[in-house]
Amino acid sequence: MRGLMMDRPLLISSLIQYAAEYHGDTEIVTRTVEGPIHRYTYADAHARAKRLANALVRLGIGMSDRVATIGWNTYRHFELYYGISGIGAVMHTLNPRLFPDQLRYMVNHAEDKLVFLDLTFVPLAEKMAPLWPTVKHYIVLTDRAHMPPTALPNVLCYEELLAAEEAAFAWPLFDENTASSLCYTSGTTGNPKGSMYTHRSTVLHSMAACTANAIGLSVEDCVLPIVPMFHVNAWGTPYSAAFAGAKQVLPGTKLDGASICELIENEGVTIGLGVPTVWLGCLQYLEQTGKKLDTMKRVLSGGSAVPISMIKAFAEKHGVEFLQGWGMTEMSPLGTVSRLKHKHRLLDKDSQHAVRARQGIPICLVDCKVVSFDGKIAPHDGETRGELHVRGPWIVAGYYKDEPATKAALDSEGWFKTGDVVVIDPEGYVQIVDRSKDVIKSGGEWISSIDVENAVMAHPDVAEAAVIGLPHPKWDERPLLIVVKKPGREPQGSELLDFLSNKLAKWQLPDEVVFVAEIPHGGTGKILKTRLREMFREHRLPTA
Ligand code: AMP
Repeated sequence: MRGLMMDRPLLISSLIQYAAEYHGDTEIVTRTVEGPIHRYTYADAHARAKRLANALVRLGIGMSDRVATIGWNTYRHFELYYGISGIGAVMHTLNPRLFPDQLRYMVNHAEDKLVFLDLTFVPLAEKMAPLWPTVKHYIVLTDRAHMPPTALPNVLCYEELLAAEEAAFAWPLFDENTASSLCYTSGTTGNPKGSMYTHRSTVLHSMAACTANAIGLSVEDCVLPIVPMFHVNAWGTPYSAAFAGAKQVLPGTKLDGASICELIENEGVTIGLGVPTVWLGCLQYLEQTGKKLDTMKRVLSGGSAVPISMIKAFAEKHGVEFLQGWGMTEMSPLGTVSRLKHKHRLLDKDSQHAVRARQGIPICLVDCKVVSFDGKIAPHDGETRGELHVRGPWIVAGYYKDEPATKAALDSEGWFKTGDVVVIDPEGYVQIVDRSKDVIKSGGEWISSIDVENAVMAHPDVAEAAVIGLPHPKWDERPLLIVVKKPGREPQGSELLDFLSNKLAKWQLPDEVVFVAEIPHGGTGKILKTRLREMFREHRLPTA
């Protein structure tokens, strides 16, 4: 027997309609690309998203057409999220930090018809335009006064485009499984692969993100997504913030510690979302200035492992609950969050920090299994390692127009293979040991590069650290520790190894420490281990 409930489709347009109707005077504050702070409300955003919808239709965009954006976190980019998906077209956020060859591939593969871009990216688009034959118009996200002289073909000014339209538009109803947005991930080899989200997956992910077990975003909050709107939709914040009716603060181009902390203080930010390097910048700024974060309740950090020293500094110096999340572009992205359970309130502070330093408990509806290297399902014993496979309603069922990549990504039961090596402990917390390709195989044992990096990051003289495996005649591979010193500090390699000696087993200790001015990062802020391996290809360990 079927139940008797209304079958209303889960559509992205419902989120902005709700926010505009019931949180119409709640603010969205932007540090604009042009410079000044811009403020308006959900009601204003909704009206402009409807103008945009009319403009898109006038430009010939219809259901399922792909429309690209290259933009920072700003109110105009927020409007694009709703205007494009709202009419049933597909919002394709391009990551400008990727290589030109990848950008060429993505726009051609997606067959994007329009490109909306911030002023910053005009030179990039000018270079790419001859290689993007499907693009009919380039729309610069600014007003007439700030329009740059440009060689871009068929260029339009965003504010003029909107001004020419009515703010009346009826969002269409369609199947909730309609494609809504597209994000490509760049592997280290091969072409980028597209995750094609649906309206349904996006709305469900927003609801999950708002739950108290995940980000816990509510009407009481002011959220600062520092994670870019061009990378996994800023972890879904443009959607979940509207779902919650939360105030939003969008940082534009300035992501340094001083600029971020200024926004937190001036706007009363309660929740921040970003990768660990961004929070490191904030901590350094706060250390230098002696300032405090008075309004901030919670940070969700993810994208790469969070050192426990960072969790401790935020909690003990600033009273901020510093949580770690794990996820992937292919998972919209939220998979796990390192929430403390009720029983953990009795633990001492250090033990609580240790719980938050794990990647966290899966959010309900994200199913996880660990497949060990002999192909068996690993028990949740906190010790048996294996690759994490996942399934759930906001996880990809395949890659957009890419059969071979889809085949390689799914196991025989249709679960998505994450490529992350993990253990799950008896309490249900997932802990990432490594990316399967970064783990160091030493004499039949495995060394987790993440464990070593986390341990050394607790040293007061270390700004950043990365560990890679180098060939070794006896042990197969041994770890090399690569360190960036904090400004004005002069740690010695031997000192760092001493520091690590009571935190790691002897065989896990790096064979050598080298200091560099900078560690290379990829387009999404992650340490580029492939680049480091290239840089140190000729390097011989003293033990080898
Ligand atoms: P992306 O699709 O670019 O967001 O990258 C996803 C990958 O980032 C995951 O497969 C992990 O390898 C890594 N990652 C994300 N969150 C974390 C975390 N909290 N700790 C360690 N690695 C993470």
